[in-house]
Amino acid sequence: MGSLKLYALEEELPADEAARVRRAYIERETGVALPAVGAYTIPVDRVAKKNCENLIGAIQVPVGVAGPLIVHGEYAEGSFFLPLATTEGALVASVNRGCSAITRAGGAEARIFRDGMTRAPVFAARDVVHARTIVDYVNSHPAEIAAAAESTTSHGKLTGITSFVAGTSVFVRLEFDTKDAMGMNMVTIASAKAADLIVTETGARLIALSGNVCTDKKPAAINMIMGRGRSVAAGVMLTDTLIREVFKTDAATLAEVNMRKNLVGSARAGSLGYNAQAANIIAALFIACGQDPAHVVEGSLAITTVDLVSGGAYVSVTLPSLPSGTVGGGTGIATQQECLKLLGVAGGGDPPGSHGRKFAEIIAAAVLAGELSLLGALGAQHLARAHQTLGR
Ligand code: NAP
Repeated sequence: MGSLKLYALEEELPADEAARVRRAYIERETGVALPAVGAYTIPVDRVAKKNCENLIGAIQVPVGVAGPLIVHGEYAEGSFFLPLATTEGALVASVNRGCSAITRAGGAEARIFRDGMTRAPVFAARDVVHARTIVDYVNSHPAEIAAAAESTTSHGKLTGITSFVAGTSVFVRLEFDTKDAMGMNMVTIASAKAADLIVTETGARLIALSGNVCTDKKPAAINMIMGRGRSVAAGVMLTDTLIREVFKTDAATLAEVNMRKNLVGSARAGSLGYNAQAANIIAALFIACGQDPAHVVEGSLAITTVDLVSGGAYVSVTLPSLPSGTVGGGTGIATQQECLKLLGVAGGGDPPGSHGRKFAEIIAAAVLAGELSLLGALGAQHLARAHQTLGR
């Protein structure tokens, strides 16, 4: 009737009904029928409030499982089936093969090296002298800045402040331990309070709460070097026999493929990621487990190494920047929450942070499985054949 805005339907109707009416309107306006988009199982009450405006339904992404994958982390200890949401034929099979190798080898070790989500407001200074005054204030008042930032959250803790200057622009990169949350909303809200204090105390002008030195959802060396989200690594020792039986190749070939492809090839291409397919596994796990899929950008900054050792090879992956969490964002949506439950990490951990870290360790081990499988397939010259059989 034109009496209500499309986005205001939830003010008058339950979320399901609002989505149905909106979908019917869009179908009528465009002449495109949307029965599949309209057939979903997730309760949308909370989704319409928290996750997606102007809701008309849901997209279903196929979910396969790979595993069991044995992980020996500090937080993740045991055997896991990985839920992978993907439309790339051969991906689940590939990860499954890597899981099988890791599990036969006794499991992947995994460790967190750093844990900090970042936001970097940009301030304008009058001149470079004022820029230095702002930086001096920030460096000499960490406790006051932390108190302001932490006043907005019961979980977040400010763990680091690093300033960067470019002429009259001052970027203050604030890093927080966000416990089980990926933490982008949490640290953005907290950073606003910190920024207010800096403005009041220094006369800086706040230009933008995000000044891109964060760096959120853009490929950036700063995330590779300083870390953003969870910095996590996983590794496994594979014997010559196992490499031969599972991958039909040998340790020296795995090492050479890794060196020439993942290291030299990536360097020649000017890549920021030195890996074979980390983004594939991260995207599939992120979509299944309610993570923000745009953070695959940071997740893809991974390095894969193959060390030739006596009797085989030690293969590792390092993910310096893995924004991930088990509370907040899309983690509460019913289907995504089931996938987190499969991994034993749904919701907040006890103590807080333990679920978020366990999840990150599992992701790192899963990425290791994907790397191993692809390196093995390339080493044995099997890649095209696998895609021909499974992907087309
Ligand atoms: P969130 O949906 O805002 O929820 C996180 C909140 O959960 C925390 O702030 C915390 O509240 C609470 N919480 C309860 N138990 C917790 C526990 N065990 N550990 C940690 N926190 C716990 O989620 P978020 O992770 O901060 O942000 C994720 C969302 O941000 C995603 O939807 C993502 O797409 C979006 N995002 C936002 C931006 C942005 O600039 N705002 C940028 C990129 C992505 P208290 O703080 O009160 O303790």
